Amino acid sequence: MIFNCLFNLFRHNFDPVRSPGGPFKKEGKIDMNSLVSMRRDGEIVVITVDNPPVNALSPGVPEGIAAAIAEVAADETIRGAVLIGAGQTFIAGADIREFGKITSGQRREGIDFLGVIRSIEDCPKPTVAAIHGTAFGGGLEVAMGFHYRVAVPSAQLGQPEVKLGLIPGAAGTQRLPRLAGVELATRMCAEGNPIPASEALTAGIIDRIIEGDLLQGAIDFLHERLAEGGATHKTRERDEKLGDEVANKAIFDAARTQARKAARGQMAPLAAIEAIEAATLRSFDDGVAREAELFRECLHSDQSKSLIHVFFGEREVARIPDVPKDTPQLEIRRAAIVGAGTMGGGIAMNYANAGIPVIIRETTREALERGMATIRRNYENSVRRGRFSAEVMEKRLSLITPQLDYDGFEEADIITEAVFEGMELKKTIFGELDQIARPGAILASNTSTLNIDEIAAATSRPDFVIGHHYFSPANVMRLLEIVRGTKTNRQVIATSMALARRLKKVGVLVGNCYGFVGNRMLHEYGREAQFLVEEGARPQDVDGALYNFGMAMGPLAVGDLAGLDVGWRIRKEHAHLLVPGERQPMIADALCEMGRYGQKTGAGWYRYDADRRAIPDPEVEALIERLSTGAGIARRSFTPEEIIERTQYALINEGAKILEEGIALRAVDIDIIYLNGYGYPSWRGGPMWYADTIGLRKVYDRVCEFHDHHGVHWTPAPLLRQLAEEGKSFADYRRP
Ligand code: NAD
Repeated sequence: MIFNCLFNLFRHNFDPVRSPGGPFKKEGKIDMNSLVSMRRDGEIVVITVDNPPVNALSPGVPEGIAAAIAEVAADETIRGAVLIGAGQTFIAGADIREFGKITSGQRREGIDFLGVIRSIEDCPKPTVAAIHGTAFGGGLEVAMGFHYRVAVPSAQLGQPEVKLGLIPGAAGTQRLPRLAGVELATRMCAEGNPIPASEALTAGIIDRIIEGDLLQGAIDFLHERLAEGGATHKTRERDEKLGDEVANKAIFDAARTQARKAARGQMAPLAAIEAIEAATLRSFDDGVAREAELFRECLHSDQSKSLIHVFFGEREVARIPDVPKDTPQLEIRRAAIVGAGTMGGGIAMNYANAGIPVIIRETTREALERGMATIRRNYENSVRRGRFSAEVMEKRLSLITPQLDYDGFEEADIITEAVFEGMELKKTIFGELDQIARPGAILASNTSTLNIDEIAAATSRPDFVIGHHYFSPANVMRLLEIVRGTKTNRQVIATSMALARRLKKVGVLVGNCYGFVGNRMLHEYGREAQFLVEEGARPQDVDGALYNFGMAMGPLAVGDLAGLDVGWRIRKEHAHLLVPGERQPMIADALCEMGRYGQKTGAGWYRYDADRRAIPDPEVEALIERLSTGAGIARRSFTPEEIIERTQYALINEGAKILEEGIALRAVDIDIIYLNGYGYPSWRGGPMWYADTIGLRKVYDRVCEFHDHHGVHWTPAPLLRQLAEEGKSFADYRRP
């Protein structure tokens, strides 16, 4: 997708280029350049931007518009102008890659975008921006330079720059409050969400909604203004909506509180608020100058670079070298699920939400009823929160068929298994499915850790077996790890990736190993968090440091949420695989032995009150001290920086091994997994990107120190060492 383009554009004295096409012709279409043209319609002109697919503000577009406006101003026979976008949309922005070119020094200066908009605004004849599709970012900033704006009912307007760690950079934060008022402008710039045309009309951002033909409606609107005398309101000169200091202070205080909560750790939302505050306190020109400073700070920040990395990363993960885009796909019309527990229910909702009928099978009526009740309750909560209507809920519920047998499974195009985590049970189920499923049906397992090849071997069609690893709650979390077995057919992979999009998930293809990508890395991370506690950090120190780092939750609190008994059971099952002499964490097992399974038992690493608030528990602290001292572990306090290094570098070191083994295709695949499945802060770009921003030399050196101090589990990944020595990054790395 293309977004807003706000290059580093702070020159006021724009001198519009005259049309390169020679003298202005009074009839017919004139090309200002290859992207912008104008055509005479009686006494007015229609200026059209035609830069498919989204009329991006690429170099040439602003200049073309300015040149056209200069013609309008100069030609005495022209009385006004309408600007419209060709194709599906008004100006939606420009290629985000341009930002990277500026910050990497490839491109020194952008177009004088501010000057262009000012020259449009200074046109002595009335001008109208006619909006359909989206007017986002620079598109909205251009439209606000026009004297009037009209839009179709389906149009969307927004300043989404904060989603990329930026703020509007072409006076959007200065003109928007003058049109929309301070409160709405602050919300739009600080949160980045678009508003529909109806709201834009009420707020005063647009002047009319055009129900029929947009261009004709815009031309009629212009004629009406001309008949009234053709006033040319300059947005920058309006100040009637800028409010008073007392009311504004309350708005900014509330916005800052909200931004600190909803976009914890991010600088762009606060910068956007500050820029709007400047609009209310300073002259337009001084406000623009402040916006430019803040814009530059954001543009050159690690946060913006990380968010742009994530934006492209989500597209990159869809590219699989040996499964090209044109790989034929299987049709998915009907689905079936085995197991209506925590995961099965959520997965069924995903299918129903996408309009795909789904059968869900359980072993007992009680489990089935419990599963369906949870599904209904989840839907009811969504209806209560206004996400969709009760009618939509009933429609979705009607697509889910609960049952106790395999009836109808033979018609399913995909069957997903979500029964308890145990190899023997999974093998039995896949053996049964092999008997029932039609040839060509995909057999997917939601296992979190188990070997997909071993599961596939229980069938006569291992090429149709694949892992579909959803994350809890499966109807909410965006990640779908798609686990490729040795024999998995490419069509099955291509279909799974497309299905992920249909289910509104981000599908990331991974290789088969214990825990795949996400949980294999998580194991190292969680273990290190526990070692820190044994070495003297308190649980709240570890969780607090990582929360402040930006993680949605600290690892110990996550353990309490997920249930400590889950890991306990897995550890008992895999006890025979432990390497003798390798250090193992002790506390979690001891907590489970005390019946402290986490939130579900009201106590785990913390105690929980009736509102599920975690309260540090002296009993746990005493337990930790007793066990660790008894094991001869020296205890001391830890700084947040040490806690971050120990836990993050554990993730990164394991990530490097995963990358080298080819379990993940690229470093960015690991990042996208962590952002969408593990609450990693997007503005840090993911663990591998974070490592790159620190520098792999530093990470490697610390890992070596940890190895010396703590032993074999810190063995540096050979790839980390190689890249550190070569002065390279994970982002550069391509597996030979
Ligand atoms: P769960 O215990 O909530 O649900 C499992 C369900 O499977 C139970 O309701 C059980 O009655 C049912 N079941 C067992 N045998 C069956 C059979 N033969 N036919 C039909 N139903 C049967 O477990 P869960 O948390 O939903 O986990 C299911 C799978 O998903 C496991 O492999 C787990 O590792 C994986 N997983 C879990 C999570 C998580 O956070 N809970 C996340 C990702 C993956």
